[in-house]
Amino acid sequence: MPVYTRDGREWQPQYLISINPELCIGCGRCYKVCGHNVLGLYGVDEDGQLIDPEEDDDGDIIKTVMTVQDEGACIGCSACARVCPTKSQIHAAA
Ligand code: SF4
Ligand code: SF4
Repeated sequence: MPVYTRDGREWQPQYLISINPELCIGCGRCYKVCGHNVLGLYGVDEDGQLIDPEEDDDGDIIKTVMTVQDEGACIGCSACARVCPTKSQIHAAA
């Protein structure tokens, strides 16, 4: 399905597909620039399992990473890709 800019130029959205937890440093820059609530910060335990920070009663989280929480809400603007310092994200056309 074609997508157009305000004055009618065709452009190709690049939707956020995934974030590599090995590369992500959890800096939150992508979260700040996304206006569509696609992203969420999660904890990771020593086995690499994701943990909701609000449910980490035992203090198992050893680092935080950004995750794709609502991929269907992404408009493919690529703002998150432009601010990511570690190139952790994968984007693709629909
Ligand atoms: S491409 Fe745009 S809408 Fe999609 S997650 Fe990144 S900043 Fe949000
Ligand atoms: S900007 Fe990149 S490194 Fe920072 S939280 Fe987002 S995906 Fe991770």
